[in-house]
Amino acid sequence: MRYEPGEETLQLLRTLSEAFGVAGFEDEVRTLIQERIEPYVDEMRVDALGNLIAYRRGRGERVLMLDAHMDEIGFMVSYIEEGGFLRFAPLGGWDARIIPSHALTIKTSSGGFVKGAIGTPPPHILKPEEREKPFPLEELFVDIGATSREEVEKLGIRIGSPAVIAYPFERLNEDVVMGKALDDRVGCAVLIETLRALKDEELEVTVAANFAVCEEVGLRGARTAAFQIEPDLALALEGTVAADVPGVPPTRQPTALGKGPALTVADRSLIPHPKLVEFLLGVARDEEIPCQLKVPPFGSTDAGAIQQTGKGAIAGVVSVPCRYIHSPFSLMRLEDFQHTVRLVVAFTRRCQELL
Ligand SMILES: [Zn+2]
Repeated sequence: MRYEPGEETLQLLRTLSEAFGVAGFEDEVRTLIQERIEPYVDEMRVDALGNLIAYRRGRGERVLMLDAHMDEIGFMVSYIEEGGFLRFAPLGGWDARIIPSHALTIKTSSGGFVKGAIGTPPPHILKPEEREKPFPLEELFVDIGATSREEVEKLGIRIGSPAVIAYPFERLNEDVVMGKALDDRVGCAVLIETLRALKDEELEVTVAANFAVCEEVGLRGARTAAFQIEPDLALALEGTVAADVPGVPPTRQPTALGKGPALTVADRSLIPHPKLVEFLLGVARDEEIPCQLKVPPFGSTDAGAIQQTGKGAIAGVVSVPCRYIHSPFSLMRLEDFQHTVRLVVAFTRRCQELL
C-alpha cells in the first residue's frame, strides 16, 4: 500500500501540535495518542514515568522499538510577584533571545488554561546600549493581567505551573505547515501513522511503540522504557533541525526541507551502528523514497539513551526535517512527513533481515 497523507493526517498533526505537553506534563498528549492507537495495537500500558508503551505482537522473538517523544520544551512558573507578574524557568533548551514578546499558555492546577504575555520594557525607555543586548531570561516576566499574587493564586497558578508559548497550527500552502512542538509531535504522528499502515499485516518482529516523556530534559523516559522493552533494534523518530535558510553555510545545515527523511550518522548522544544506516539507505533505495544524511554531530535523541540501556540495542534515528525547532513554532513539508512514514513502514516490514 502506498501511503498518502490525507485530511485525517493533517488533522492528526494539528491536534498533536496544539496539545499541551511540556516535559513532565505530557498527560494531554498521551490521552490523545492512546485513543488513536488503540485499534492498531495488541496491548498498551503507561509506566511509572508516564511513557506510553504499546505492543504489536509479531511472529518471531525479536523486538523493534519505535520511539517518539511526547514532551515539548516549555516553562515553569518559578515565582509570583506581589503585583501579580510571574517569573519563569525554562524546561528544555530554549534560546533566551527569542522568548520575549510571545503569548504564553499556562496550565492551572485544575487543568484549565490561562493566557499571558511575556512582557518586555518598551524600546522608548531603553538606553541605547540596552537595545543592543538580548534580555536575560531572569529579567523576563509573564503578564496575565492580574494585579496581585492572590489573584494569580485564585486562578490555580502556583510555583511549578507549566507553560508553553501559544501558537496555532497553520497550513501555509499545499505542502508546508507551521506549528508549535513539531519536535517531536511530528515523530509521534509518524509512529501513529506507521502503526495504522501496518495494522492488517503480519510482521516478523514485535513492534514496541514507545511514546516517551521528558526527552527535552535529558532523554529520561526512553531510558526506562528501553529497560522494560529490551529491544534488539530501535529507531527514534524525530523532528530534527533543518537550517536551509539564508546566512547558514551548508556545513552547518544539519538537514534541508524537501529532501525526505534524515538519517543520523552521528549526533551528540549516539553513533548508530553503520549497518543500520546502510540498511535504511537500502530500504529507501528499494522503495524509491528520497532521503538525506543528517550532517553530524548536532543534537541528541532518545536513540542515545536506548542504545546504552540494559544489554544495549542497535539504535538509529529517522527524522522529519523541521525549520526553527526549539523556537515558538516550526515549519515542515508534508511530503517529507509522508516519505518518513513510508520509510519507517518499509523498514519495519523488513528489519528482521538485519538481526
Ligand atoms: Zn526532539
